[in-house]
Amino acid sequence: MKRVLILGGGFGGLAAAHSLRQSLAAEDEIILIDQRAQFMVGFRKSWALVGESTLEAGQRSLADLNQQGIKVIQGAITKLDPVARSVEVNGQRLEADAIVVALGARRAPEKVPGLQAYGYNVYEAAEVPRAAQALHDFKGGRVVIGIFGIPYPCPPAPYEMAILINSLLPQRGISATVEVFSPQPLSIPILGEVRCSDFESQLAEKGIAFLPNHKATAVEAGEVVFANGRRPFDLLLTVPPHQCPPVIVDSGLAASGEWIKVNPRTMETQFEGVYAAGDCVEIMMATNKPLPKAGVFAEAMGRTAAQRIAAAFAGIPADAQFAGEGGCFLEVGNGEAMMVKGSFLAQPAPDVILTEASSRYLDQKRNFEAELLKRWFTA
Ligand SMILES: Cc1cc2nc3c(=O)[nH]c(=O)nc-3n(C[C@H](O)[C@H](O)[C@H](O)COP(=O)(O)OP(=O)(O)OC[C@H]3O[C@@H](n4cnc5c(N)ncnc54)[C@H](O)[C@@H]3O)c2cc1C
Repeated sequence: MKRVLILGGGFGGLAAAHSLRQSLAAEDEIILIDQRAQFMVGFRKSWALVGESTLEAGQRSLADLNQQGIKVIQGAITKLDPVARSVEVNGQRLEADAIVVALGARRAPEKVPGLQAYGYNVYEAAEVPRAAQALHDFKGGRVVIGIFGIPYPCPPAPYEMAILINSLLPQRGISATVEVFSPQPLSIPILGEVRCSDFESQLAEKGIAFLPNHKATAVEAGEVVFANGRRPFDLLLTVPPHQCPPVIVDSGLAASGEWIKVNPRTMETQFEGVYAAGDCVEIMMATNKPLPKAGVFAEAMGRTAAQRIAAAFAGIPADAQFAGEGGCFLEVGNGEAMMVKGSFLAQPAPDVILTEASSRYLDQKRNFEAELLKRWFTA
């Protein structure tokens, strides 16, 4: 009998767990560990923020996986030993024949003084209802969406929020300006200068200001402080800095301030039998810039790791490879969405486009969530 531990029940962990359940023998044990009780896709946060839907409508209980032959343990992993292939959770030590580390990216708002006191963290599910209420109660003025660190998951998402808010507030008769600042020189860097300039013109046409090269150092009451100036706000929505989860850094799988380095095609780490998938890994593209963090990539990485583990157990050559293809949705209101999509690991350069806005992409976005929840949570 073999045992695989899946650390994290997000996109990467769920894809790995389901793929393994399909390919391993019934007596082989698949154990998924997460501190959260529920799964939800990331873009639900945008919908809940603007009152389009609720977080709850898209949440599913991880415990339901027990009925599908995946044992779920709810608890925080406090120790990970990649040499012994063991973890500690709820005071219990578990060993395994293989491990998939899919613990995501930890939001680290504490890195910017004042961020938690004066801003609403729209990347933290637990804070989204409070942010939605603040937006609902907003009487007018300047809405600032601040990107406080890179990398962060789904690079188009802050712009999606800006566009949706910018069209929502006038509908409520509220006079407001919406702006987005970023420490980066371009809005969605993977698109390159020309396409970014086109997208930033689209933002400007809607009246949304984009402030590049704005690295915030602190937040004070009503003001964001930058290295070279200040910017006032009436409502601040924040995309906080992100970091590799500390339990991973403590394990030696990633150096402090970095992410897990994996074989970009196989998801193998430097430790035998230990794979990593999703937002906690860093894969470099041909541009020598990191692959953007996205659920579709986490899912494909988790599946790749699982297929390679199953092949290794069966003693057959593994051919599954991570391709780096897919993209993120960028909803633009009026029943339409765009997509930032393409082949991110293409050589000699990523081949990624911003599609036109279309109701087709909004349908695809809705279907993406519906199909995923059905596939993973229907016994
Ligand atoms: C607003 C928004 C919109 C987005 N839109 C898109 C989109 O259109 N397309 C797309 O592809 N992606 C999108 N994303 C990004 C996507 O949500 C993430 O890239 C994805 O969730 C990453 O999956 P993951 O499995 O790596 O990590 P996560 O989904 O973050 O899962 C990690 C899990 O590990 C658990 N965990 C962490 N530490 C511990 C510990 N010590 N003990 C136990 N459990 C632990 C966490 O509780 C969590 O459940 C969006 C994100 C946001 C915020």
